[in-house]
Amino acid sequence: MRIHIIFLALLASMHLFSQKASKVYTFDVPVFAYHRFGDDRYPSTNISKSDFEKQLKYLKQNAFDVITLGEAIRKWNNGEVFKVKSVILTVDDGYLSFYTVAMPLLKKYGYKATIFIQTGTVGGGDFMNWDQILEIERSGIEIGNHSDGHNYFVNLKDGALVETFVLDLEKSARIFKGHLGSIPSLYAYPYGEYTKDMTDAVKGAGYSAAVVQKSGVLCEMTNPYEIPRFPMGGPFATLEGFKNKSGMKALRIVKTDPDSPFPKSNPPALKVEIEPDSINLKQLQFFVAGTAVDIGPVYYMEDMRFVVLQSPERLKSRRTLYTITVPSLDGKAWHWYSYLWIRPEIKE
Ligand SMILES: [Zn+2]
Repeated sequence: MRIHIIFLALLASMHLFSQKASKVYTFDVPVFAYHRFGDDRYPSTNISKSDFEKQLKYLKQNAFDVITLGEAIRKWNNGEVFKVKSVILTVDDGYLSFYTVAMPLLKKYGYKATIFIQTGTVGGGDFMNWDQILEIERSGIEIGNHSDGHNYFVNLKDGALVETFVLDLEKSARIFKGHLGSIPSLYAYPYGEYTKDMTDAVKGAGYSAAVVQKSGVLCEMTNPYEIPRFPMGGPFATLEGFKNKSGMKALRIVKTDPDSPFPKSNPPALKVEIEPDSINLKQLQFFVAGTAVDIGPVYYMEDMRFVVLQSPERLKSRRTLYTITVPSLDGKAWHWYSYLWIRPEIKE
């Protein structure tokens, strides 16, 4: 009898524990990726000055909390609560147009941003020099590492990839240390291309987080070394697109199969295990490289948690995103997830 009671008590406490464990604090923070500002020589990576200002004005008028990526990582690690409407603005490459066009607007609206600098091009033609980078850092812009050589690292295999990537990480760190006096704690993979070996190397080198270029929303289930970002260049750089994405929520993914970016067959199939809470899986939409695709055969198993996605056509580009969006149960919000395929044999 006593054993019985102890057993029941144990069961009860386990139940309580599991309820407590499942009550994880959740958050959704859209992250945006910019490159060039007011520089229409490169339309696909540019946002016009007026469109960028419209976006900042929208954030101000709607009382968004604009935080840096580093602040978000600290909040996340400390279990601090994010404001419901929080967004992160990031910029890649360190072009001069950030200094001349974006910086005055960020100052005007009182917002910060995180900029990822590739050390190998600092001071060259179209890029900021170290004095300008020091100046923006002093005025509150957060500096991240975007490699030294901006290479297509994934064109290399296994050992050669790791060796080359780690050497580049060490070189860029030395250069940052020499010019800024410190090594950044955030990293952005060149071209958004990464492998598990690369995320391990970034983590091993002491970085607290890294960003990629597949679209999506930072949430409590995101791998901190694979933080997704919505591109804000070319056709994406509109006010409407920005409004839509700044209200977007993360589609919470438990796991995918495969979990490597390199397709073993073409078109590749992707099995996605989705956290089913408060979303309407029956209205799942599937996009290949931004184009809506008939979902075709979708397999719902174990309480509708799995979907298997496959492009109807062969993937032709170097990088292709499979994206799924699902509305919330109340229909008021959309949840987003993208998976990146890379075909290193294709040149850009
Ligand atoms: Zn870049």
